[in-house]
Amino acid sequence: MTQPTIERIETRLVDLPTIRPHKLSVGTMHGQTLMLVTIYCSDGNVGTGEGTTIAGMAYGPESPESMKLAIDAYLGPAMIGKDASRVQALMVHLSKLVKVNHFAKSAVETALLDAHGRRLGVPVSELLGGRCRDRLPVAWTLASGSTEKDIAEAEKMLELRRHKTFKLKIGARDPRVDIGHVARIKKALGDRGAVRVDVNMAWSETQAAWAIPALADAGCELVEQPVNSAAALKRLMRRFPVALMADEVLQGPQSAFDIAKNEGADVFAIKIEQSGGLFAAQRVAAIADAAGIELYGGTMLEGAVGTIASAHLFASIPNLQWGTELFGPLLITEEILVKPLDYSDFELTVPDGPGLGIELDKDRIKRFTRDGSEKVTQ
Ligand SMILES: [Mg+2]
Repeated sequence: MTQPTIERIETRLVDLPTIRPHKLSVGTMHGQTLMLVTIYCSDGNVGTGEGTTIAGMAYGPESPESMKLAIDAYLGPAMIGKDASRVQALMVHLSKLVKVNHFAKSAVETALLDAHGRRLGVPVSELLGGRCRDRLPVAWTLASGSTEKDIAEAEKMLELRRHKTFKLKIGARDPRVDIGHVARIKKALGDRGAVRVDVNMAWSETQAAWAIPALADAGCELVEQPVNSAAALKRLMRRFPVALMADEVLQGPQSAFDIAKNEGADVFAIKIEQSGGLFAAQRVAAIADAAGIELYGGTMLEGAVGTIASAHLFASIPNLQWGTELFGPLLITEEILVKPLDYSDFELTVPDGPGLGIELDKDRIKRFTRDGSEKVTQ
């Protein structure tokens, strides 16, 4: 049998508006840029992958523009003519040619898995070992910058039955102000909504040491990445009646192993882009599970493609104790799919069609494509 080969790769930047400014300790987002990669195979199958960041380059070393460049100049040309059906082997080959660049690799791997799933007529979740669930609980992030607006937004989400777990982005202001903000929101929601916080590395270790107990007193159940190093996070462990989650310090399986070995977190935020792809994220999850660390399905605020790629992976993880935060597409004002995703009853349905199981609205993608950003490699 002739193996399908990769014939053509297209990349583009798609700039989309967000429903409101999204304020984090690292910066404020006013829109989201999706880097989309489309891989065309000789057997007619086509796959799409996505790379995004949070607030340009404020979150980490890659940007949508740098991912696109890595694919256009390096990853793409190295894939032309290669066997499209051996996804893991091809990713190993690419890793030898291009170091790190986890987000760009995640986008490419997603596109290859989408095409291969379509080829075999199975969802991506089946290529990852098979799903344990068809629906995923989804937390919502409150990050408007105003306590009143956040409370109103949370009430709306509860009323719509879309979210009942809320993650508050804090760390940009004085910790005392942030603790008051968290306490007021938790008090307003009571038992109707769970409250967690993400500090995005903003606190020093001494600030974290006095602020975390105050957050626990306010009713917060989980503190995500309060400090910027794995060593400081480890020193904070087991000192407070609240779970500590690692996010930014998790940069793929090796870092996951180091943190697990040092008992450096209660929970891991699993992210496909930060891990370096779906297979790498699966290894991060396996390391956590073996170490007794609990799991949470994280987001890089991806649009529909990256979100659903993540959803296929999270559906295949046996223990997912803290649910997910796959709300990225809901932060964007524009629908880019032919059929919108199903967010209902506090959960997201994982599509069951071949590949990712979603279809992009080509006209809308074209409309929001940044001028001159389209590039074809063949
Ligand atoms: Mg985070």
